[in-house]
This record gives sequence, structure tokens and C-alpha cells, in this order.
Amino acid sequence: MRLADAVAMAGGSASHGILEDVLTPAGAAAANEALTFVREGTEATDGLLALEVVNSNSMTCAARRLEGRDSVVLIPLGVIARARALARRLLQHLAHGKSVRVVGNPLDYRPGWEIAPGLVPVYGQYEGDDEHQWDALKSFDGSTEPDESRDTAASDIMSLCLLYLAMHEMTHVVSRHDRLLELVRSSDPRVPSMSLPVLRRGLEINADIMAAVTTARCLAMVSLLSAGAKEKGIALGVADTGLDTLFERCSFAATMLFSMYDTHRATVFNYDEGSYPHPLIRYEHTHEATLEAIKSFAPDLLETVVQSTELGWLRCNQAISELENACLFGEYGKPADGNILRCLPVTALKYGTPVLHMQSRIAEEYRLGIQIEGLLVLMNGLEDG
Ligand SMILES: [Zn+2]
Repeated sequence: MRLADAVAMAGGSASHGILEDVLTPAGAAAANEALTFVREGTEATDGLLALEVVNSNSMTCAARRLEGRDSVVLIPLGVIARARALARRLLQHLAHGKSVRVVGNPLDYRPGWEIAPGLVPVYGQYEGDDEHQWDALKSFDGSTEPDESRDTAASDIMSLCLLYLAMHEMTHVVSRHDRLLELVRSSDPRVPSMSLPVLRRGLEINADIMAAVTTARCLAMVSLLSAGAKEKGIALGVADTGLDTLFERCSFAATMLFSMYDTHRATVFNYDEGSYPHPLIRYEHTHEATLEAIKSFAPDLLETVVQSTELGWLRCNQAISELENACLFGEYGKPADGNILRCLPVTALKYGTPVLHMQSRIAEEYRLGIQIEGLLVLMNGLEDG
């Protein structure tokens, strides 16, 4: 497949005009800076690695191999636009919040759960009819009050989501996950045998870990360069803030992003099979990998990063709780049967305490992601040799 065909099939390139229309000029500028940063900072092992934001309201990012040795990472505008709109709304709720928490548990079964009608534009999964979806998202975003400092923070959070998504997909390409899958599938005696579902899950966990490691290293690098970064033309697409604010927003972004992919509010057990662990576990892996990366890359920053990331997670959790209170009081409408309780919680991601009961599961899955890293090193050694 050629680059142009891959982009066209995914919805076509989102032009600057479209970005400005959907994200506002300030949001579009931040997104463009983040894209430039990623494009300039990454190299494929061989061939060209393109990164495109495509004009689609989907939530599904993808990495595709192209003709020759080239590849492309496709990020739908729908994810970035939802991230910005949701971040603006969450920050507004946080600013006006009453700090009451709706409690729940990711181990609870939630039969009949559905998204509150007013949150469908950001949390819903659509099929077809992009025009209607863009209108709904724009009207959702338009009803959030403008506020300069919150909007800047929301653009940062959006850029950081974009960074995570791009780095996750790029890991699939750069680390040649498809090649490892091929070797294992063909029972190549040079690599250990492994069941394909376990391998696929391991590859996704590995991509999450590497996305967190790369993002953490980028933020630390830009912070360490501080004033010098601007002179060198390094712009990350985030506001010129301190290291603590940057990592706080980064952790807010990760928490929010995984909440957006928590589409079924299913229990952890519902995720026993399939390619992805529960979103809450994916967040925990991201957090763990961020701290591990800082420990080895910039240990002096560790204390600040630990505090900032905890704060970001906490603030996002509080904001989601406020969103749930607003839901409970009817601000986001009611489902057809009138029972708003069916729409709560908005996400199963916000709960901190049950994580304590899930430590062994989280650690076990994390080890799988690290084990894949070992297999990739082995594979690259074989193929180079
Ligand atoms: Zn993936």
C-alpha cells in the first residue's frame, strides 16, 4: 500500500483548516507543535515513518506497513478533539467542584450500563455519519465556558494524549512487533514458542510501556534544556511551564485518555482475554514505566515527578467524580428508561483503592510487557546477525 492510499482509506489528511475549525486555532497550533516534535524526533529502523492526523471521528489509531520499508502511523482527529473537549470540561468541573465522590469498584458488574446522553460526544463510540458526530462534539465543547488558563492546560493535555498515542503506535512499527508476531506464528525455532493471544497482549503492554518511557524522557529532556530548548527550536506543543506542571498534566492526560478507552465499564475480569488489559491496569503500567524511565534517565527529577504525577492522577480522578455528580443531578440528561444510575460511573478508571487488590495482576501483566522487550532484543540480534 502507498502512503497516500493508507491516509485516504483512514479518512484523508486533516488539513490545517480542519484542525483550526475543530480544535480552535490555539488547539491546532499546539497539536501541530506536538506533531512536529514527534516527526523530527523519531526515526524508523529502516524506511520512512510517517505520522498523520486523519479526518475521521473514530477513536482507533493504527500503524500500517507501506510499500518498500516505509510505514505510517494514523491518528484520527476524533481522539484528539475528544481529548481537548473532555479536558476543558473536566477542568471546568474541577474548578467549580464540590468534592463529593461517587463511589464504585472496577470489580462490580454493571449490566445495562450506558453513557449519559450528554456525554456521548466525548465518551461514545460512533459508527458512520461523521458530520453528525463533529456537530455533537462541537456543541459539547461550545457549552464549556472559555477560560484562558484552563484552555491552555486543556491544549497541553491534548498534546500529551497525542504524544502517548503516537508513541504507542510508533513502538509497534519501530520495535517491529509485526515481525516478532510472524516468527512466533510460523513456530520459528529461534524464538521461544508462545500462544498468539498472549503474545498480542504482550505487544500492546510493551507499546504502552514504551510510549510512557519515551514520553517521560521527552518531557524530562525538554525540562532539562528549559530555556535553551526554545532557542534550539524544540517545542513540545505544551505551554512553557515548569517540570512539575508538565508531569502533572502528563499524568492527568494518561488517566483521562485511558478513561476514554474504557468503553464498556467492564470489570477487570472481562479483560482476562483480548489484546488489552483493563484501562485501569494500562494506566498503572504507564505510571510505573514513567517512574522507571525518570529513575534511569534523570534521577534528580524523580522526587518532583513522583509528586506531580500523583497530583495529576488525583486531579483527574476528582474531575471525573465531579463529572459524575453532574451526571447524577441530570446535567447530562437521562437514558430512555429515565434511570440515571445506569449511567454511573462514567468510567471504571478512577478508583484508587481497589488497585491495591490488583497489584499482583498489574505486576504480572507488566512483566509480560518487559518479557516482550527481551524477545525483541533477541529477534533483532538474530536478524542482524
Ligand atoms: Zn497497539
